[in-house]
This record gives sequence, structure tokens and C-alpha cells, in this order.
Amino acid sequence: MSSPDETINSLRDALQHSPENVPLRQHLADTLLSLGRGQEAEKEYRLALARSPESAAIKLGLATAFNYQQKNSEALVIVEDLIKDSNCPAKAHILYARLLLKAGDAERAVRQYKRAIEKDENAGDMELASRLGIGGSADRDVVDGKVRAAWEGDENESLAEIERPAVRFKDVGGMEALKEEIRLKIIHPLEHPELYKAYGKTVGGGILMYGPPGCGKTHLARATAGEINAGFIAVGINDVMDMWLGNSEKNLHRLFEQARRNKPCVLFFDEVDALAASRTDMRTSSARHLINQFLNELDGVQASNEGVLILAATNAPWHVDPAFRRPGRFDRILFVPPPDAPARSGILRIMLTGKPMADVDIDHVAKKTGDFSGADLKAVIDLTIENKLRDAMKTGVPAPITTKDLLTGAAAVRPSTKEWFSTARNYALYSNQGGTYDDILKYLKM
Ligand code: ATP
Repeated sequence: MSSPDETINSLRDALQHSPENVPLRQHLADTLLSLGRGQEAEKEYRLALARSPESAAIKLGLATAFNYQQKNSEALVIVEDLIKDSNCPAKAHILYARLLLKAGDAERAVRQYKRAIEKDENAGDMELASRLGIGGSADRDVVDGKVRAAWEGDENESLAEIERPAVRFKDVGGMEALKEEIRLKIIHPLEHPELYKAYGKTVGGGILMYGPPGCGKTHLARATAGEINAGFIAVGINDVMDMWLGNSEKNLHRLFEQARRNKPCVLFFDEVDALAASRTDMRTSSARHLINQFLNELDGVQASNEGVLILAATNAPWHVDPAFRRPGRFDRILFVPPPDAPARSGILRIMLTGKPMADVDIDHVAKKTGDFSGADLKAVIDLTIENKLRDAMKTGVPAPITTKDLLTGAAAVRPSTKEWFSTARNYALYSNQGGTYDDILKYLKM
């Protein structure tokens, strides 16, 4: 029997004579890959792909070669393209699962792994399956030992940076009703707990804000912390999700503990639907564990949340598990609409403060920017300033911003809120239990 090196040498020899032979080159690349020689395999796959650009098997080989060399973003680009085709090889889903796990998205990794097995039950990879916690049956998605082991780390380890925001409510344009609700529901109870107790009002619970993107949910949460000189921890899905089973729950617990140690503190969950998705939508028990952990933390089962203000934001409130809406949890659900004309004037005024301006008619610009979110308005101003700077470079003289400049900027920015309403409208019409989304209907004048 020939040694691997001899095999490779004879394949290379054969290719010298027929460099156009794609199956032969692919065979060489596969052989190199099976020997762990990712870089050489990559080279051969590239040459094969140049001659046969549509081959899914060669693309998958190239992606695998990238993965061998830890060039994971290159691998991801190819795999994401491959799986668009429902007939792609089962192994493409396995590689995708591996890459997702590496990126910390264990939940999607499990889904991809299962899709691969549905396509071809022999496509499985024992080592990957065990890292994903996929056992013999659906109930064994979580390996007990792993979950317990994950809890053994240091609870006091800080996961997030604590910000001390300088922005206050005055820096948030419009949103008066929301500011008032936040004052009543979470700021006053924090500042005067004895008054609330005297009237038998329970303190606690958080606020869930929802609405189209870029309309100031995060900005308002940050300003809430600034308003009362509290710390601010912004939690995104990547701060919580971990490829190791049980670690996501631990991360969540640590974030709550960090907020409790640093009270008063605003703990803000952005895109909370990703962490608190409806349990009926969940296929894996690991995702359900995370939700139960989140509910326990909100309830203060293990430790009191006194002094911790909990705010969350989502663009898709309909995906949040209803259990989160019970008293003491996110029991206030507030709609954050796109800013109306007076709010837009307020936002523009705040954003233009300190900038060189001629006699700008801010109210007129506000009137002309219907459906613009706060983030869209920011884009308008950024663009206007860029244009002014470009002119100043030419003339050498910085000219003040005019109404016309702002309107030119606005004409170049597409308002982004309309798209959200086309989805929201359907939920508000057909899935509006308890009138949760009445505010959307009111906004749409329906
Ligand atoms: P997403 O849903 O995409 O997370 P969001 O609703 O949390 O969006 P923000 O991130 O708070 O929106 O807003 C984006 C930017 O737009 C902010 O950083 C801020 O500069 C500006 N902005 C939005 N609304 C306001 C407002 N009411 N007052 C002042 N600035 C605002």
C-alpha cells in the first residue's frame, strides 16, 4: 500500500498531464484535506472551482479547508451561500453548525445540525453533536453534567462594562409620555421606596419598550440611567449566548449580579426577543432553560433586584414569551412610535446644538421629515455636515448650516420606519390579545 505522500505525489503527477481534469483535482484536494493539509487543499479547491464554479461539493470542500485554517469568516460566506439551495449537501449544514457554534450561536447551530441529520442520517458528527449537547432523544438536548459544570465558575466575574451615561432626559427629544411612565414606574419607587410601601404599592418590575428601529429606545434607557446618576449595563444577545450549554444561563445570572452589586443600576436588554423568545417557538430545551433562568432573575428568586432598574427593548414584541409580561416582570409594555413633528424638532434641535448654523427653520425641516426615526434624523445631520465639510475643503471657509442644506440631506435619506409598520399592523390586527398593540392601531389611525 502506498503512503499518503506517495498518493499525493502520484495525483499531482497525473494532474501535470491533465490539468483540466476537475474530478482528479478535487480528489487531490479531498485527500489533502483528509490529511489535515488545509492550506494545500485550499489551493487545489480554488483551481478546481475556477474550472467548475457551480460545483457545490467543491465549494463545500473549499469552505472546509478554510475552516481547517481557522479562516472562519471566509468559510461562513461560502456556506451561507450553499445552504440557500435546499438541495445542498447535508455536510454543508454540519459545517454551518460548526461555524455557528464557534460564533457563539449554539441555538442555530443545533438547528443546522438537526437539518443535516434530517437530510442524511449518516451525516452526523459525534464530536460536534456532543459539543452541541445533542443526545439520543430530544429530551436529552442538555447534558446534565455540562450544565452543572458551567455553574461552577466565579459568580462575581464582571461580564459587561458599567457605563455612567452623561445623557439625561433633556437630551431625548419628544417621548414625554414615556419619560413620565419611566419616572412613575421605576425612578420614583427607587428614590422614595417608603412612600410606595405606605400606599401598599409593590416596587419592582421592568418596562419593555417596543417599536420601529432607531426611534430612541436605547437612547432613552441610557438617559434613564443618566437622569438618576445610575450605572448602565447594556446587554445584547452576544453578551449572554455562549456555545457551552449552561453557560448562557450563567452569563445572564452574572449580569444581574453585576447590576445588583452596582446599584442603582439600569440593566438594559436590547433586542430582548432574542433572549426571551416564546417558548412555544423553541425547539431546544437549552433555549427553554435560558428563558426560565431569565424569569427567575426578573423575579429575584435568588437575590433581590432592589435598586436595579430593568428596561428592555424589542422590535418584535410578538415574539416575546407571554410569561415575561406577568406582574413584577415586564409588566409595562410601552410603544415607542416614530417621533411626531414637535418631537422631530426637539431631536433636531438637540442634535444641532453647538453646530454652526445660519437662521435654520427647524420646524420646517421637522415638517418635511415625516416617518423619519431619530436615527434617520441623525443620518440627515451627519450627511449635511459631511457635505458642508466637503464644501469647506474646497473654499477653505466653513459656512454655517442652512435650512436648505438640511432639506438636501433629508432628501437623500430614506425614512426607515414604514417597513416595520407593515409587519406590526398584522400583529396588531390579528394577534392583539388583551389590546397589547392598541397603540399601534391608534398610531395607524385604524
Ligand atoms: P433599535 O431598535 O435599532 O435598537 P432604538 O430604538 O434603540 O433602535 P436608538 O439606538 O436609541 O434607537 O437610536 C439611534 C440613535 O438615534 C441614537 O443614538 C440617537 O442618536 C438618535 N435618537 C433616536 N431617538 C432620539 C431622540 N428621541 N432624541 C435624540 N436622539 C435620538
